[in-house]
Amino acid sequence: MVDYAFDHAQHDRAAHLRKDDAWRAADVDTRVLVIGGEHVATVGGQGLRWVTMSEAPEGDWIFLGIKHDVRYAAVVVQTVAPELEPVSLRVLGPSITPDEASLAVHAVGIARWHQIHRHCARCGSVTNIVEAGHQRLCPVCGAHHFPRTDPAVIMLITDDQDRAVLGRQPSWPEGRFSTLAGFVEPGETLDDAVRREVMEEVGLQVGEVEYAGSQPWPFPSSLMLGFFGKALTSDITVDQDEIAEAHWFTREEVTEMTASSELLLPPNVSISRWLLQQWHGGTIHGTWA
Ligand SMILES: [Zn+2]
Repeated sequence: MVDYAFDHAQHDRAAHLRKDDAWRAADVDTRVLVIGGEHVATVGGQGLRWVTMSEAPEGDWIFLGIKHDVRYAAVVVQTVAPELEPVSLRVLGPSITPDEASLAVHAVGIARWHQIHRHCARCGSVTNIVEAGHQRLCPVCGAHHFPRTDPAVIMLITDDQDRAVLGRQPSWPEGRFSTLAGFVEPGETLDDAVRREVMEEVGLQVGEVEYAGSQPWPFPSSLMLGFFGKALTSDITVDQDEIAEAHWFTREEVTEMTASSELLLPPNVSISRWLLQQWHGGTIHGTWA
């Protein structure tokens, strides 16, 4: 059992009900989430706020699926009204239930895609939403467009002394570090993407790579694929472009330096923190968030 935000899909996506708006026809209870960008309607900024179909504002509809015989949908608006207490899902993620997170991460992922993919990539025409929000169809050239997911690898690399390498991006303040990460390129396996990114960012050669878990991260469209990897070399050379500095850390250093806030690590919402925790096994203090 893993425990970072969005770690399980909990609802039945019921894709067979997407066609011709079949999901709307049934006489069953349907709960609607109002979303704008990555902001979702909440109750007091704590949990998701579900409204009925008739209470929902005008917008683009997404059918999310079924959970315990209840149908769930989302309506995408430009900006969620203040009285619906909108909060970014990035902030809300760690505090909502896995059931709610599963629905919200699906909805926000699709909503963000619609927001930035209104035009046909083939001919430039404005496209129409079909399949209950899960496709866009071009009325001019007939091209079907599907929601985009960009795979990114995120990896905790250790050496033969079981130290972990952590890096600081140029835009981050002193003391803020994380595991290395980067996007998978076309024509590349995941293992090779891990090895290439680590070589590019810190100049370390990586041998064995082991898959650890994944996390949808729809801000706007990433799928974070977590790995553990073993470095074959130990001399760090940072690229200065993506990484400003990188160092090897022992577990003891992580414990002591996070306790004194000399080292600030990612928040609990992230798979990065989980990878660090799996490696460390003990108490890691604080977070940068
Ligand atoms: Zn087109």
